[in-house]
Amino acid sequence: MNDHDVDVVLIGAGATGLYLAALFARDRLRVQLLERRAEPTRHSRAIGIHPPGLQALDEVGAATPLLERGIRVTRGHATAGDRQRGVRHLGTLDFAATLDGDHRFVLTVPQSDTEAVLEARLAALAPGALRRGVRVTHWQEDAEGVTVHDDAGGSLRTPLLVACTGANGASHESLGAHLAGGPYPDTYVMADLPQSAERFPPGTAGMPGPEEALIHLAPHGVVEAFPLPGGIRRWVVKTPRLLDDADPAHLAELAFERLGVTLDAQAVTMSSAFGVQHRRARPFARGRTWLAGDAAHVVAPIGGQGMTLAWLGARTLRDAWRAHLEGHTSTEEAARSYDALQHPRARRAEMRGAVNMQLGRATRLHSLRSGLVRLALHDPFAGRLARIFTMQEGRA
Ligand SMILES: Cc1cc2nc3c(=O)[nH]c(=O)nc-3n(C[C@H](O)[C@H](O)[C@H](O)COP(=O)(O)OP(=O)(O)OC[C@H]3O[C@@H](n4cnc5c(N)ncnc54)[C@H](O)[C@@H]3O)c2cc1C
Repeated sequence: MNDHDVDVVLIGAGATGLYLAALFARDRLRVQLLERRAEPTRHSRAIGIHPPGLQALDEVGAATPLLERGIRVTRGHATAGDRQRGVRHLGTLDFAATLDGDHRFVLTVPQSDTEAVLEARLAALAPGALRRGVRVTHWQEDAEGVTVHDDAGGSLRTPLLVACTGANGASHESLGAHLAGGPYPDTYVMADLPQSAERFPPGTAGMPGPEEALIHLAPHGVVEAFPLPGGIRRWVVKTPRLLDDADPAHLAELAFERLGVTLDAQAVTMSSAFGVQHRRARPFARGRTWLAGDAAHVVAPIGGQGMTLAWLGARTLRDAWRAHLEGHTSTEEAARSYDALQHPRARRAEMRGAVNMQLGRATRLHSLRSGLVRLALHDPFAGRLARIFTMQEGRA
């Protein structure tokens, strides 16, 4: 007889915890998901979901509602130059023409909507599994299970604890994991604003349509634009240093200098200035305390891989724990198998993120970079590039 209150406790109801809780609930495990925030976040933050992410979401019934809400971005244009020298079109990454499978696009949807859909799926699969306004303070692990304590003095006993506590948590310390990585030198400012508040000079090369993306490689740093539902566009601009505040007027100024586009800063609905880091815990799991999502691995946000990587890892984690529950492996073997599959995936995503970021840096070799990107966007390389960008190169 064990003394467990539930079959699994998860900490953190972000994109990772909500998805993983829904996966376990679908397997009919008794799940408890504890979130310190009393309310969901409203920040649009992550917007891109790659095809392997949509496949993973489908397992918990979340893909269809998200496909109904999001924009299917089938084409992304690449341009180079600046307002003074002129803007040239380097080529178009055409996902619809070059990818296989059901999802030949990148879906864009605000992270707040993605989390709302996941939360609704979890509520349908396991009513009451999510408890908000509960901060986990510490836990103790022994051979039979983990006792999890919260700030209201409550405790729960579970055979498996998964910390989905995000990029800034210290959950790795409790399993004695080493944290590799650190900050990149790159900094950005981003803003969401209505497409009606942007004006491209007539005849601008590679001007994106309402449902198309743009990656503009200017000599002084990248300008990116992605469509969002509701006629909104997300602008991301590389800055020479981290801005003290995310003044949209500054973003508009840089976008004008580099691309010639006029953005009405007054119309901005969200803006934020951010630095970028990468980190990877080693190992991701030990004993009965496992890490998932950003708590395990953080990759550069340029290229939008964080959530897709987290959901693929969550599926691997669930499979490893299921093998244990079915009596095929010990807890240590299950932990090692999750780690062995997710580590190489996280490393590949880290490398893709680093390359994406490198491409957007300021450079004196602007013409060389533009020439290479133009080459990569045309046959015979275009299909491979589309697969790499959408996390479908080899195993995702
Ligand atoms: C600017 C930016 C743009 C991005 N764009 C993309 C993109 O386009 N596509 C993409 O896939 N990814 C993107 N990402 C990455 C993506 O946002 C993250 O990978 C994702 O949010 C990770 O989700 P998570 O659930 O692991 O962590 P989080 O979203 O950080 O959630 C962790 C949760 O744990 C809770 N928590 C922490 N400690 C405790 C505790 N002790 N007790 C209870 N609760 C606790 C927190 O309150 C929080 O709700 C972007 C990131 C940034 C910064």
